[in-house]
Amino acid sequence: MSKKIKQLPDIQVELPRHCLHCGRPLPAGEHKLRKFCAVWYDQTGAVHDCKSDYHTIKKKPVNDEFRSYRNGITVDSTAIATVISKFGNTVTTAQLDAHDIQLAKSIEYDITDDGKIISHFHGYLIISDTATGKHQIQSI
Ligand SMILES: [Zn+2]
Repeated sequence: MSKKIKQLPDIQVELPRHCLHCGRPLPAGEHKLRKFCAVWYDQTGAVHDCKSDYHTIKKKPVNDEFRSYRNGITVDSTAIATVISKFGNTVTTAQLDAHDIQLAKSIEYDITDDGKIISHFHGYLIISDTATGKHQIQSI
């Protein structure tokens, strides 16, 4: 005697989908690619645009980080030129500090075999000799 296994019907359940920004359920039967609420206006006339808000928030930290990065480069280049005009190409840490030139803000750095640190800035290299505490600035 064999038991007949009843084949379950192929049911497609449509799970409720929600706006990626505000989490409100999206209307059933909406286009499958829709991920956000439709743009709507409240009584005060203010626009609610979940899609734009979502992408603005996502981009914001990147924009802020990029802006501060760019500002860092601009400030340093001008400051480095000022330091060279005042003190020449070999300077002390105190002279760099006085002009807010932070080696940690360099675009990148290398460490040479003899222990010198080469900090790359926009337009300049600053070669720091940790033994003497002097920094040599080169235009590039
Ligand atoms: Zn929404």
